[in-house]
Amino acid sequence: MSLIIGVLKESEDKRVAITPDNIKRSKVKDAQWWIEKDAGADSGFTDSAYGTVGKVVSRQEIFQQSDIIVSIFPPAEGEFGSIRKEALLISQFRPYQDETVQGKLANQSFKAISMDMIPRTTLAQAMDVLSSMASIAGYKAVILAAQQLPRYFPMMITSAGSIRPAKVLVIGAGVAGLQAIATARKLGAIVEAFDVRSAAKEEVQSLGAKFVEVEGAKDDKGAGGYAVQQSEEFLTRQRAEVQSRATKSDVIICTAQVRGRKAPVLIEAATIPQMKHGSVIVDLAASTGGNCALTENGKTIVKNGVTIIGNSQLEVEMPEDASQMYGNNVLNLLAHITKDGALNLRMEDEIVKGSLIKA
Ligand code: NAD
Repeated sequence: MSLIIGVLKESEDKRVAITPDNIKRSKVKDAQWWIEKDAGADSGFTDSAYGTVGKVVSRQEIFQQSDIIVSIFPPAEGEFGSIRKEALLISQFRPYQDETVQGKLANQSFKAISMDMIPRTTLAQAMDVLSSMASIAGYKAVILAAQQLPRYFPMMITSAGSIRPAKVLVIGAGVAGLQAIATARKLGAIVEAFDVRSAAKEEVQSLGAKFVEVEGAKDDKGAGGYAVQQSEEFLTRQRAEVQSRATKSDVIICTAQVRGRKAPVLIEAATIPQMKHGSVIVDLAASTGGNCALTENGKTIVKNGVTIIGNSQLEVEMPEDASQMYGNNVLNLLAHITKDGALNLRMEDEIVKGSLIKA
């Protein structure tokens, strides 16, 4: 008996969890791939392309027949009852943001793996959707800012005069921040960056940016690579430092987050009128409150001539590559949890232990 792996169409996302190319590369022995009709319509993958590597079916057929179901975000709670009892649902449940998730799954018979709970270890790096999506968002944030900025990014020396390079400030040098630094540097900007994790300093410098240090940050190596909540006294000093840099910047990319908590507010409302006219802030921390006090999640606003883009889902704006990368992460997980064409969930395995949120 071969495994049936079903791929759902997303209701509120342009991405798809598995692409035809992913399926071609899959190493799951004898798997049958069932894809919901129009699953790749918004990311550029047609039903006929899926038809060459799998079977295009209805949503109900996937729910009722699949051994494994994959999606970017879980189906609505109202659909849980349609899912086969023995199935494994692989999605991003975001339990660290939504406390009701565990309760909603508790009464169900199917199993669930949350891709965003896979431990951030070296072994699991190839399955890390948070990193692959953050990397796209960091890149796209700089591209958006460059498009919005009424000035050049690189230095230009022309017969019509010389242009100085743009100054970009990156707040938070995790996966998204580092990609934003690399992209802004490639476009020729002068870049400086803040972070509270000591490991970030070397990474920032290796990309040719200046690391701005605020003394006294709490750094916890036991936090799984994540930052820990800083004291109010530290954040006040950091805000003062951010303010002095912000007023000289053309672009600020905000990515500072503390997992499971509200994002630290590092750009105060009073800083905005002191910034240069035409400057751009892209706030990737918008969904957890934003690093800028004036950010509105899901909106682009202009205050005192400063454009503030609040968007924590910029990866969705690059759905083709984002789907491809998410799919690769899922395939690497599937290779880890299947053996000889059957599901092989080893409960003692660190990756399974961390991500199996419903057994
Ligand atoms: P994240 O999205 O949770 O946070 C983004 C960044 O904001 C982090 O670098 C964090 O330190 C920073 N931050 C938090 N509070 C701040 C403040 N007050 N001021 C400035 N910066 C602040 O983090 P992330 O990008 O998902 O990952 C963070 C780190 O986790 C990575 O850089 C890496 O070290 C580690 N990681 C490891 C692996 C792996 O080994 N497989 C994979 C991914 C990430």
